[in-house]
Amino acid sequence: MRKKLIAGNWKMNLCAKEAESFTKEMKGTVNTDAADVVFCVPYVHLSAVRDILAGTHIKVGAQNMHYAEDGAYTGEISAKMLASMDIPYVIVGHSERREYFKESDTEVNLKALTALNSGLTPIICIGETSKQRKSKRTFNVIRKQLAFAIDEMSAEDIAKIVIAYEPVWAIGTGETATKEQAEEVCALIRDEIKAAHGAAAADAVRILYGGSVSPDNAGELFSMPNIDGGLVGGASLKSTFEKVVHF
Ligand code: PEP
Repeated sequence: MRKKLIAGNWKMNLCAKEAESFTKEMKGTVNTDAADVVFCVPYVHLSAVRDILAGTHIKVGAQNMHYAEDGAYTGEISAKMLASMDIPYVIVGHSERREYFKESDTEVNLKALTALNSGLTPIICIGETSKQRKSKRTFNVIRKQLAFAIDEMSAEDIAKIVIAYEPVWAIGTGETATKEQAEEVCALIRDEIKAAHGAAAADAVRILYGGSVSPDNAGELFSMPNIDGGLVGGASLKSTFEKVVHF
């Protein structure tokens, strides 16, 4: 039985004092063992948020990392640095990074492999654009992005990673995928993993849905058989995130 995972993606929001007071507020309402709850926060807030959440069930994640172990990459952060700060999760390949920072499928794969090597859990994002869905290419796009993302991973690696199916047209738009649309793609992802790495890896891997999740739709989405929780942007920055966590 896979434990649900609800990850909040704060994106580039909240200054220091705001991050601290919001974390303190949420600590009181989303601290549960019924699901794994993760706050993926800007790098500069990692230590403060981690310290406020110490002793709770809530975990902290980063929103990106570089794939190199270390070196001359000014402005970048490595997986080793995150691991050394006891940050267990990192988002990899978010569509905003793919679009605005031109991250390629190959880079996403390298980041995921480096994260695993450092003992981090990568939350790997894949998803089709509106144009790709309208031209009925969703399944092919997902198959391709997934194959790149998990290249060179063993079945044991697969069992540790998290995949977030995030249709690009649903992110930050208020246009959520229906539970049937989301389930169909999450089931495809699991089937592909089963074909490549066997039933044990497919049963273990957690597959999230992301894209305008809200307190109103979290329950029906997260109750689908192949959806193991959500990656939540805008709604994770509101007090009502508590309703998403306790869907
Ligand atoms: C996200 O940031 O991954 C996301 C899904 O955002 P939102 O929930 O705001 O659509």
